[in-house]
Amino acid sequence: AARTAAADRADLRDRCAHNYHPLPVVVHEAAGSWVTDVDGKRYLDCLAAYSALNFGHGHPELLAAARDQLDRLTLTSRAFDHDGLYEFCAELGDLAGKQMVLPMNTGAEAVETAIKVARKWGYEVKGVARDCANIIVAADNFHGRTTTIVSFSTDPDARDNFGPFTPGFTVVPYGDAAAIESAIDDNTVAVLIEPIQGEAGVLVPPAGYLTAVREICTRRGVLFVADEIQSGLGRTGALFACDHENVVPDMYLLGKALGGGIVPVSAVAADADVLGVLKPGQHGSTFGGNPLACAVGRAVVRLLATGEFQERARVHGARMHDGLGELTSMGVTAVRGRGLWAGIDIDPAVGTGRQICERLMHLGVLAKDTHGSTIRLAPPLVITGDEIDWAVARLAEALRG
Ligand code: PLP
Repeated sequence: AARTAAADRADLRDRCAHNYHPLPVVVHEAAGSWVTDVDGKRYLDCLAAYSALNFGHGHPELLAAARDQLDRLTLTSRAFDHDGLYEFCAELGDLAGKQMVLPMNTGAEAVETAIKVARKWGYEVKGVARDCANIIVAADNFHGRTTTIVSFSTDPDARDNFGPFTPGFTVVPYGDAAAIESAIDDNTVAVLIEPIQGEAGVLVPPAGYLTAVREICTRRGVLFVADEIQSGLGRTGALFACDHENVVPDMYLLGKALGGGIVPVSAVAADADVLGVLKPGQHGSTFGGNPLACAVGRAVVRLLATGEFQERARVHGARMHDGLGELTSMGVTAVRGRGLWAGIDIDPAVGTGRQICERLMHLGVLAKDTHGSTIRLAPPLVITGDEIDWAVARLAEALRG
């Protein structure tokens, strides 16, 4: 008997490690804000690969930059320079207002880079005693999956049975600047936070928090490291989420959308007094700053420099939040977020986050649950106002059951 392609795929599923629990959709192709599955059914992508697709699927300028580069040069390693590396660093640095950029690949690598830089800065510039450097982080953080990063996670799923853990981190409550101030001592080299906590459920800290963190870090001689990997590059209606409080951290951590949804590209952007502590041989990556990544990254910087995507996130984000605000009578208990980014808490009586996402999927909208009862919406910034209204209406339908 003929076996269906779907049955073949189901057999193959166990060949992939079970470290994710995806929705049962199999995407075949995509353009802009829409994806099409293997059966030809279309869905509005309201996750955008956790903000890695801020410019939508297959943005023509990003594809053109990638194609041009593919035909010419894709990899040199950092053993040799290529004619795009310093240009990428300078252009991204100019956009971010920082003197230097260190390119890596994944978000977690940017975070690891920042931890190493902050520690080295602590020993060599601040004068912290050898191996005593400490970094303050926030509860419910998400900075990635490496052994050091999960060492300061407060999520049992992320940590359990992955020890022994890396020392040198102090966890304080998120949104509480006074807690940071009290945790700082002579060994503190940095405060590492997400300006809006993404994986925690799009938690926006109280107004004035980032300003207070900046002031405390400056006064106490501690680096302020902002993980803008998910919040940055247009998502919130500004280039950086820190911009909403006019706050400039000492290090920006960037990733996700920096690769235009095409290649993994991450970076640390900081001034020379900080990033300058790294000397040849002390840090690196075979693929970090590769020609393809730099070509796409430069095209991303050009798109962001127009301000168009930040504006879209502002305008359409306000529309999305207005629409979501109407759902509070229908089983939504809270809506948080900024720009085209929302965490929506669902009354358990109406369904779990997963169940609502499955209903949404059947209605043609892809979104992702987090922490049981929260749904996260982060559509591509190219989404239209009508598409937002349509997605919000589908959510209302999904809540009705
Ligand atoms: N930092 C933040 C704020 C994130 O949201 C993520 C990923 O979700 C990461 C770091 C890790 O990025 P990656 O998965 O590319 O390692």
